[in-house]
Amino acid sequence: MHKNNAELRSFRKKLLTWFGQFQRDLPWRRTKDPYRIWVSEIMLQQTRVAAVIPYYERFLERFPDIRALAEAPEEEVLRLWAGLGYYSRAKNLQKAARQMVALHGGEFPSDRDAVHALEGIGSYTGAAILSIAFGQQRAVLDGNVARVLARLCAIHGDLREGRRWQSLQEKTDELLDTQAPGDWNQAMMELGATLCTPKAPKCLLCPVGNSCEARRRGDAEAYPEKREKRQAVDVLLAAAVLCDSRGRTLLLPPPKRDEGRPAADHVPTLVSGMWHFPTVAVRKNAARELDSYLGSALRVSISEANVEPLRKVKHSVTYRSVRVAAFRVRVAKLPKVAGARTLFLEELSSLPVSNLTRKIARAAESADAANSGDEAAARLLVANN
Ligand code: SF4
Repeated sequence: MHKNNAELRSFRKKLLTWFGQFQRDLPWRRTKDPYRIWVSEIMLQQTRVAAVIPYYERFLERFPDIRALAEAPEEEVLRLWAGLGYYSRAKNLQKAARQMVALHGGEFPSDRDAVHALEGIGSYTGAAILSIAFGQQRAVLDGNVARVLARLCAIHGDLREGRRWQSLQEKTDELLDTQAPGDWNQAMMELGATLCTPKAPKCLLCPVGNSCEARRRGDAEAYPEKREKRQAVDVLLAAAVLCDSRGRTLLLPPPKRDEGRPAADHVPTLVSGMWHFPTVAVRKNAARELDSYLGSALRVSISEANVEPLRKVKHSVTYRSVRVAAFRVRVAKLPKVAGARTLFLEELSSLPVSNLTRKIARAAESADAANSGDEAAARLLVANN
């Protein structure tokens, strides 16, 4: 890459000038408020910028500061998060806000150890907040920055491997512009997000292309080398959209992790600690196993007369490939279950629910539309499932 201090200075200057000229106008770039920067950084983990913006704006309108977030009911925080996925992020956000109220007078701390002691804040997020909001000399290293470095220096191998990641951290620390650490970090991330993209990097437009070893070799896309993929695990679930004579359904409250539900061992993770339809992990005969679960957990039984299979629902959560056999189960009265909610499907968004639950609800709604006129024809034999 660069060999001496003059080259390093020139490299920094080129990247910062480019960032000053071409950076995207994003709502979290218009503030130095650590709370707002923190919320954006957490939302941006695993989620695209365009998807985050409306959530970010709604979230901050409702929770304009740390205290407002700390004092809100968790259910409301999750409801505003619903659709972004990875709900533990929202829960940790609120836990950290409560820590800040308890320990730091409701202010975001600027001390590195205090920041790292907050729930859900790791070295990347800590460095991003401390550099952007407080101007501290902390260099960020995330997947985007690692990819840029791997290309600039033509680094082979799995970047997440312990020692290699450590040497990438040393490399990014060395590159950091100590006069403008916040801008520098954002410039590196912006380069990775807009030009040095995983596929088809736009090397001809790159402000630091002359210092790039991968570009010199003409094979930028070969870096970083592919990691071995974790093998996908298939998960089969069965879910019941109960439906009473008024068309109302039943949602169960977020499962507690220590609740110990052996028959539904995948379910707490897959419904992400959110409100959900009665759901169980199954092996072969989804209808029969669902019947057995509903009988023991809710005292509801299903038969040819009251069950209607809905279209299959597919969902991916990290390495899990989930298929859900969903059924509408008609009952005269919804069962009484401690903590459960009775509501119409259209009211689903009043509760925090996962994308998986939304997909099941959509399957029920589309069956309603298809069936209006000939409901009986849609019923299938339970034994055939
Ligand atoms: Fe990335 Fe291409 Fe720029 Fe190298 S020249 S840093 S590969 S965009």
